[in-house]
Amino acid sequence: MLISLIVPCYNEQEALPIFYEESTKVLAGMDCEYEFLFVNDGSKDGTLELLKEFAKEDTHVTYIGFSRNFGKESAIFAGLANAEGDCCAVMDCDLQHPPEVLVSMYRLWEQGYEVVEGVKRSRGKESAIHRACAGLFYKMMSKAVKIDMSRASDFKLLDRKAVDALLGMPEKNAFFRALSSWIGYRSTSVEFDVQERT
Ligand code: UDP
Ligand code: MG
Repeated sequence: MLISLIVPCYNEQEALPIFYEESTKVLAGMDCEYEFLFVNDGSKDGTLELLKEFAKEDTHVTYIGFSRNFGKESAIFAGLANAEGDCCAVMDCDLQHPPEVLVSMYRLWEQGYEVVEGVKRSRGKESAIHRACAGLFYKMMSKAVKIDMSRASDFKLLDRKAVDALLGMPEKNAFFRALSSWIGYRSTSVEFDVQERT
């Protein structure tokens, strides 16, 4: 079985080497094949150069380079469209999503779950205004999609079937964390504590 780890990256030259090392440790300890699919979202720092180096030295690493900054959603969908995994996980590069949680996600996928959602047990350090705005946004979003989004995140593991369903949708401006819950399939969740940004 192959797991693809999709990682959108925007100006991550400092976090990227730490992310790569930490998540390699986790993936190499799992009983499956793995590939990294980094998406450089028009970074202005040395992110792309680092990705080139990783890809040269490690056959597990592939990257996509955007011509400019298109935003995280585009980066996630470009990753999904180019991943070859039997399942695909999406993770932030700044280690706010703890890599070791991938192990629990993968186990649940092995048990037959097709959408494994990372839900925030705690939200980590945030300003009061950020928390209030996020709260309001998710209240409106939850009402619109009729799914509780209050603890939702982009940290998810999806079966190939769910990935293909997402890629088959005609939406050009998609919101991954909502759409990946909305498509249905056999779903479950894993709680995680949002870590401080590396
Ligand atoms: N990111 C991206 N394009 C952007 C902004 C962010 O690919 O235009 C990536 C970023 O490198 C990180 C993830 O999306 O891997 C989450 O970004 P950030 O940590 O800034 O978001 P937050 O944690 O505040 O939600
Ligand atoms: Mg972050």
